[in-house]
Amino acid sequence: MNSKQNMPHKLPDSLWVASACAAPETTTLQGDQFASVVVIGGGFTGLSTALHLAEKGVSVTVLEATEIGYGGSGRNVGLVNAGLWLNPSDIDAKVGKKYGDRLDATLAKAPDLVFSLIDRFNIECEATRHGTLQLSHSRYGDRYLQHRAAELTQRGAPVEIYQRDKTIALTGTQAYRTSLFDPRAGTIQPLGYVRGLAKAALSLGAKIHTDTAVSEIQSMPSGEWKVSTSSGSVTAEKVVLATNAYGQGLNNGLDKTFIPLHFFQFATAPLNRNTLKHILPEKHGTWDTRQVMSFIRLDQAGRLIVGSIGRVEDSGCQFLKDWASDYLCKLFPDFFSQQEIHQHHQFWQHGWSGKIAFANDHMPHLHTLAPGMITCIGYSGRGIAPGTIMGKELADHLTGMPIEEMSLPCRQPKSIFARQTRRQYYARGSDLYHLYQRAI
Ligand SMILES: Cc1cc2nc3c(=O)[nH]c(=O)nc-3n(C[C@H](O)[C@H](O)[C@H](O)COP(=O)(O)OP(=O)(O)OC[C@H]3O[C@@H](n4cnc5c(N)ncnc54)[C@H](O)[C@@H]3O)c2cc1C
Repeated sequence: MNSKQNMPHKLPDSLWVASACAAPETTTLQGDQFASVVVIGGGFTGLSTALHLAEKGVSVTVLEATEIGYGGSGRNVGLVNAGLWLNPSDIDAKVGKKYGDRLDATLAKAPDLVFSLIDRFNIECEATRHGTLQLSHSRYGDRYLQHRAAELTQRGAPVEIYQRDKTIALTGTQAYRTSLFDPRAGTIQPLGYVRGLAKAALSLGAKIHTDTAVSEIQSMPSGEWKVSTSSGSVTAEKVVLATNAYGQGLNNGLDKTFIPLHFFQFATAPLNRNTLKHILPEKHGTWDTRQVMSFIRLDQAGRLIVGSIGRVEDSGCQFLKDWASDYLCKLFPDFFSQQEIHQHHQFWQHGWSGKIAFANDHMPHLHTLAPGMITCIGYSGRGIAPGTIMGKELADHLTGMPIEEMSLPCRQPKSIFARQTRRQYYARGSDLYHLYQRAI
């Protein structure tokens, strides 16, 4: 496999970059090295794999093309969820009952793993575990949440439906009708978390090299893999490809297994104390039932963050900023007005976006690409807890657990039909939806 693409070398300006703890000191790979396992990609999946391998005493080297958290892991919303977007019965339909039950049980525990790693390694990442609220915007949304709650409850999940009064009290907005509360979930500062995973992995003996783009993976006559960069190589028995939506050319065929979908966020300055008594007073993370989903959450300093599908680096930036302003005024008319936002020189202090690996079936996929080379990819916008726990499972598998015991079935990568057309459809469709939302 060969990589020839160039990527920008730094994360874009974002709230997470401005407020995260410092990244650990790392260097570029120089010269030829050896390890038992080489992990390509320094996000949740790669670093959780490395951390859990190092904990078992396995020699592991992580190679990251730019910086820790450069991909989705350093840009996401920070909602640590239990489970996927799909309802358990939809998951069963896609992977069968045996894997469906296993995946459900694994992902239900995944936030526990995230928060226990945060505790064990003292990761500074604004972790709160107050639960999340999925907010219904319509009668359809109410029915959807009822159905989801019934399925989750049947599987033992401690979720609850909140009626309108409680939903209003917990969000501060009249815009939503009911909500689904999941106490297993929480919020984090995602860049702080991924940097913390890197520090923890280093403390256990893993090696991490940044500014180290892998350009080639070659199989050696010895049965090992030689993973090369412009300044060196690592030869290892096993390779983990943990590049998700940010694979730089290396992914080749794998890129075709998901649609890259951008998701943007804007953050205000810290809100004043009085406003914070009303807006998300218990600091729940939230998202809604709209087809083009939007979310609101607070960070530790009380900044309000809103976002949806779209790309702020595009010429659509002002349009999306206007959407965010409009959305905020509609949600909280007692606290924000268009006039105030327009007069305020820098009402939105940060705006950024990231790329989601959106799989056709909305599920992460496990693939053995060749003997000794494995990947988990296509998290479809749910990768904090799933990426962390799949990293742990990859480490277990690489140290002897049969692949059949993993929570995802290992399947052949499948290309998505008419991928570019669908990508355009989702991107333009969400722009149109945001236009429509502004018009009503
Ligand atoms: C805007 C946004 C919001 C999201 N919100 C949430 C959320 O609230 N909750 C949630 O659970 N999930 C969310 N997600 C999804 C989640 O962030 C991702 O699923 C997760 O970060 C994937 O982690 P990863 O480690 O697999 O990949 P990534 O974090 O993308 O890491 C891949 C890494 O591989 C590196 N790489 C690529 N090619 C090479 C190469 N050739 N050599 C070396 N390194 C290479 C990249 O530089 C990158 O750092 C969101 C995603 C986005 C983009």
